[in-house]
Amino acid sequence: MSIIVQKFGGTSVGSTDRMKRVAGYIVKEKEKGNDVVVVVSAMANTTDTLVKLAEELSDVPSKREMDMLLATGEQVTISLLTMALRNKGLEAVSLTGRQAGIQTDAVFGNAKITSIDTGRVKEELSNGRIVVVAGFQGVTDEGELTTLGRGGSDTSAAALASALNAERCDIYTDVDGVYTSDPRMVPRAAKIEGLSYNDMLRFSTMGANVLHPRAIKHAREHNVPIIVRSSLREGRGTLISDKVERNEAIVGVAFQEDISVLTIHGCDGGESLILYDLDSHHIETERIKHRQELTLIIKDHDAPAVKKIVSQYNQAYSHVEIRDDLSKVCVIGSIHSSGEVKEKVTNVFHDYHISKVSVWESSVGLSAIVDRSDVLKAARILHMHFGLDYVESKRAIL
Ligand code: ASP
Ligand code: MG
Repeated sequence: MSIIVQKFGGTSVGSTDRMKRVAGYIVKEKEKGNDVVVVVSAMANTTDTLVKLAEELSDVPSKREMDMLLATGEQVTISLLTMALRNKGLEAVSLTGRQAGIQTDAVFGNAKITSIDTGRVKEELSNGRIVVVAGFQGVTDEGELTTLGRGGSDTSAAALASALNAERCDIYTDVDGVYTSDPRMVPRAAKIEGLSYNDMLRFSTMGANVLHPRAIKHAREHNVPIIVRSSLREGRGTLISDKVERNEAIVGVAFQEDISVLTIHGCDGGESLILYDLDSHHIETERIKHRQELTLIIKDHDAPAVKKIVSQYNQAYSHVEIRDDLSKVCVIGSIHSSGEVKEKVTNVFHDYHISKVSVWESSVGLSAIVDRSDVLKAARILHMHFGLDYVESKRAIL
């Protein structure tokens, strides 16, 4: 019998009515003769509300206690959804991350899944039950509860799908698939029918939060196809699999507005101490080294912590600068350093009077830092110039 993993995000389980609807999707999969494992997020806005409560009590809440708090959101959903399923006469059981055998490292707030013991889940399945697992959470070797980072339920689902050798992992969300850019900001963004794991990883790395980046890596590891689809509307969604081939090198345009840019001038190798410090605080950075200058791109919300760390080293460098008035835009794809893409971007920016702070190539594609006030304009224009704009004739294949 095939195993199908279905993941439902916060909006999809945002009310008991929505849960009843979701229960229908689960029943449908079960009636096809599949074993079904369901992974859920906390109900819409629950996690944000919990974060706010913590902030009312503490400026810097303990990370361990944050995980203890945030993990409760998913537990509400597993029990309620399981009740909805049982009410339909189905055999179903809810499991916490720990009960589902999800083991993680000890990085509270951003833990990585290290292994999954699928014994309990398989046993429940073999008893004919639908298994409803709390996403976003796991447990360390020491028995501490952890969470996987915001949006981490996708990763729970993909990692379970991979460990169970599932036939497919369906990610039900509030959008009907992956788009060439954020359709709310780039109106001509088009839905993508299929993407390779690597292209999807490029999108996620660039902050397209439709799928958690680590989820893709887990699925890729065991070649489990993922389908991103809407729980509110019927449709085929976007298939992510290694079987998807694309002719075009450029698959999308992404942008990140909420970044800060840290530039260290006069680097002579000693900056590795700063980098080490940032790593040990688990602050994610993208690094671009150009001669004596090191640029670090960080999330806006990490800026206060980064400023504090960097201030200890300030005297060692001729100049350290943090700017919060910049954003990043990226032409996504495998661009093989031919220089062509760079030239095109440079020309487009010139023609449309967009001044760039820097441009560089990476495994994600070609990225540029521009003024925050220009970033949406830049994204829309690049989207058009790289032939990604939605045109009526594409409708036939979508
Ligand atoms: N509930 C968590 C969050 O809001 C995890 C998830 O939804 O994937 O980030
Ligand atoms: Mg999500």
